[in-house]
Amino acid sequence: MRLTILGSGSSQGWPGVFCGCKFCQQARTLGGKDIRTRSGALLGEKHKIDFPPDSFAQALRQNLDWSKLEHLFFTHAHSDHFYPAEIKMRRDSFNRPPEGKEDQGVLYIYGSESVYQGLTAVLPDLNEFGVVFHELKPFKAIKAGTVTAVPLLANHMAGDAFIYLFSQGDKTLLYALDTGWFPKATWDFLASGPILNCVVLDATFGLGPGGGGHMGVPEVMETKAELSRLGLLTDSSIVIASHFSPHGGLNHAQLEELLSPHGISPAYDGMVTDI
Ligand SMILES: [Zn+2]
Ligand SMILES: [Zn+2]
Repeated sequence: MRLTILGSGSSQGWPGVFCGCKFCQQARTLGGKDIRTRSGALLGEKHKIDFPPDSFAQALRQNLDWSKLEHLFFTHAHSDHFYPAEIKMRRDSFNRPPEGKEDQGVLYIYGSESVYQGLTAVLPDLNEFGVVFHELKPFKAIKAGTVTAVPLLANHMAGDAFIYLFSQGDKTLLYALDTGWFPKATWDFLASGPILNCVVLDATFGLGPGGGGHMGVPEVMETKAELSRLGLLTDSSIVIASHFSPHGGLNHAQLEELLSPHGISPAYDGMVTDI
């Protein structure tokens, strides 16, 4: 399973769209891994997690082709993860099918009821856009091509948000952004589940503390310790922190210095991990 982190920033991006703080100015100077677009990731070429407003720019930057997407999982309906206006570009008048194909094919979209409401508010007739929606219920697995996904309850957006346990072959990925300390039902589910080969955790607030449905580095370390205590991590499990806000106050080099000794890698835009 190949995980590509396309965006490693929080809601305003880093530098923030309109932000003039010293951390955003520093990022504008440093460039490189200190430029963080809004949160999203790709599994292989056909499975995507979230579709933020930066998705088009991310595809250009990474030389990706969204016409190959088949499955799109939404964590929740906050605008830094969910930008349905762009999915309108699937309308027939805006694109043509690949050579030798009659139509553009179906994009399967997965999410909660509020994602469905948000999606159909912008795209009232999903069929017109080649979209088929599957409403997910917490802890109920769904098969999406070669990937199995289990939505787990996040501690975010008054409980109307998911983190995901993905599996493909014998590999597993826990994708857990936009959540504070996991709800008990999620811990209980994980405790009875498989070993985790890769875990992506929310470190929005940098040095922290976390709050408001996000974590900081202290909670990321506690979450890793709890996953280890439950026997869910091995020496080869990969732990990544992401969704960084500029106001967490740590640039990429500082995050690396802080996290690496604890076996945690700070994400950056374009980070590719073979799980
Ligand atoms: Zn977010
Ligand atoms: Zn959010």
